Amino acid sequence: MIEKHRWKVSLHGGHSGEFCDHAETTLCEMLEAAVLAGYHTFGVSEHIPRPEAKFLYRNELERGWDVAKIERDFDAYTLALTELADSFADRLIVLRGFEAEVVPTASYPDRCAKFRGRTQADGRPAFDYFVGSVHYVNETQIDGTAEECKRALEEWGDLESLAVKYYDTVAEMAQALNPDVVGHLDLIKKTAKSLGLQSVPLDTPVIAAAVDRALESVRSVGAILDLNTAGWRKGLGEPYPAPWLIKRASAMGVPFCFGDDSHRPSDVGSGITDARDYLLQNGVKSVTVLTREVDCERGNLVKQVISL
Ligand SMILES: [Zn+2]
Ligand SMILES: [Zn+2]
Repeated sequence: MIEKHRWKVSLHGGHSGEFCDHAETTLCEMLEAAVLAGYHTFGVSEHIPRPEAKFLYRNELERGWDVAKIERDFDAYTLALTELADSFADRLIVLRGFEAEVVPTASYPDRCAKFRGRTQADGRPAFDYFVGSVHYVNETQIDGTAEECKRALEEWGDLESLAVKYYDTVAEMAQALNPDVVGHLDLIKKTAKSLGLQSVPLDTPVIAAAVDRALESVRSVGAILDLNTAGWRKGLGEPYPAPWLIKRASAMGVPFCFGDDSHRPSDVGSGITDARDYLLQNGVKSVTVLTREVDCERGNLVKQVISL
């Protein structure tokens, strides 16, 4: 077998149409794509179900889905993921994860802890790790439809205030959840694009101060930042996070890993080689990955620093 590059690890992605309204194909096909993409380790991080109807995506509502349906899907995902991780074990290290949310504000830490604590029938952990992401500010989605983005903007008055609140939510989430990975740190730039506000700066001193609070929070819990290639596919001209954030994070000692944020087979591995160049160009010479040693018991991951 050809030796796979040890840096070729994605810790965010593997969403599939089987378990997610805005993804395509089956989880099995996503893992086949990960093998073909030459991944060493592939983390699967399906979205956890949102517990109230008001948080359902428009697409889910249009399909007639409800909270019970997305919860059933997530239960099915939990079972399928362990089975598939086992069946792919000779070809790919599959890490079993999920992507946590920050809604509802009052109960998301408890909900996340319940998912994290899930066990299989044999009592062993159902998940190996999870990604903490902020897709909502004050319970309004910031990466959904243009109308939702507009609502979020109206709530805070201007993009700078919304961005500050967004980064403060990232800081709170990291403390509340203690995630292994923090997803797409500057997702707020996608919101700016949806609002037609790309020319409004997202690196003002006030925002940079909020960024520093978020990075300090991420650093203090030992989480890894997701160098997320979806930014290129979303027409943002760069991945998440932007170069100035990479420099700020690495100056503070916050590590990075890759995430392809794949939602269909063509996304799997997409942009990972460019992401490696991007990190190197911005002075980051290593990634910090989660993986499993051969014959290592499920749930017992190792964290490794790998040179790029
Ligand atoms: Zn998604
Ligand atoms: Zn996300």
